[in-house]
Amino acid sequence: MSELKTKDATYVANTYARFPVELVSGKGSVFKDENDKEYIDLGSGIGVTAFGIGDDEWKSAVVAQLDKLQHTSNLYFTEPCAELARIICEKTGMKKVFFGNSGAEANECAIKVARKYAAEKKGEDYYTIVTLVNSFHGRTITTLAATGQDHYHELFQPLTQGFVHAQANNFEDIKEKALSNKTAAIMMECIQGEGGVIPLEAEFVKQVAEFAKENDILLIIDEVQTGNGRTGKVYSYMNFGITPDIVSTAKGIGGGLPLGACILGEKVQDVYKPGDHGSTFGGNPVCCAGAISIMNRLTDEFLDEVNLKSKFIFDSFADFDGVENVTGMGLMIGIKTTKPAKEVVLRCMEKGVLCLTAKDKIRLLPALNIPMETLAKAVEIIKEAISE
Ligand SMILES: *Cc1c(COP(=O)(O)O)cnc(C)c1O
Repeated sequence: MSELKTKDATYVANTYARFPVELVSGKGSVFKDENDKEYIDLGSGIGVTAFGIGDDEWKSAVVAQLDKLQHTSNLYFTEPCAELARIICEKTGMKKVFFGNSGAEANECAIKVARKYAAEKKGEDYYTIVTLVNSFHGRTITTLAATGQDHYHELFQPLTQGFVHAQANNFEDIKEKALSNKTAAIMMECIQGEGGVIPLEAEFVKQVAEFAKENDILLIIDEVQTGNGRTGKVYSYMNFGITPDIVSTAKGIGGGLPLGACILGEKVQDVYKPGDHGSTFGGNPVCCAGAISIMNRLTDEFLDEVNLKSKFIFDSFADFDGVENVTGMGLMIGIKTTKPAKEVVLRCMEKGVLCLTAKDKIRLLPALNIPMETLAKAVEIIKEAISE
């Protein structure tokens, strides 16, 4: 381990504060390190391995596609790309999908669509996008500008122009910001993930959606973390009874391979024309074949189980000593403990459970199909770590 640590520190860019553990293999919701020590995984690679490590169905879909071809470029038709887009449209009622490789790219695509729509419909000065304070939308210069957290912006100026941040759950503020600027779109996460697993208030989300519709301002919902079954619905906006114009997603959709999607509703389905946008890797057939196996399993029955496991976690921690509050939806859960979250998470790691943090909370994003026994065992260990 110390040799690997040295090599990593010497040659890999210094952007991550890694936990002191080397993961070498895994199956389902269990990882193994270099000493064969087992860890129950409650982070799924930040909500990416939606059906766990080495999931058989996902793996055989990926391997079957690898045996045919791994890449063609977007100059040619491939079946997995078209089929995945069809499944996404069928599950959402949205109209078209653009595929990229990450969440930031999905958001870049959404921002470009919004700007072009508004430029054509209202004029080129209608480029402002209103996002929320404490949001997270990515690390590129434009998605950093969208991200409403100042500490990510420092020393990276100038960022892309045209982003304004409004207070979450303050409809008057968002309305004021949207009307005092020439606004193309409002963009938000229904549950702020990196911001601390904070769901928006249902009434606020509804008001924003109505306001956007009345003013022909596009509503972009960032479902990069919340999407693809994570919150107990296929997409988190479905918990709020709204219809966005654009949905961006990534993380869990690829089951562990890089894939992002920008999903376009009726209003914006034909904004892009050939040449307006593109991606060399986007819609890669191997990634899409794996994603089909993920999306096809997000049935109502399966999502009912996600919600049962969610309830189990909420119930386990709601009145537990040392826990201040539990927030989130589905299997995207934040636990605020009296002890610093980082301390609890490190203790959990020693005891063989991997959790994440978000701001000052423990963040849980287990695989959607984590077996109940495994989840129950992990919850007991977290409780021990909180109590010690
Ligand atoms: C992770 C995340 C992103 C960025 O995704 P990348 O794949 O890292 O580019 C954007 N928005 C939200 C809400 C996220 O959680």
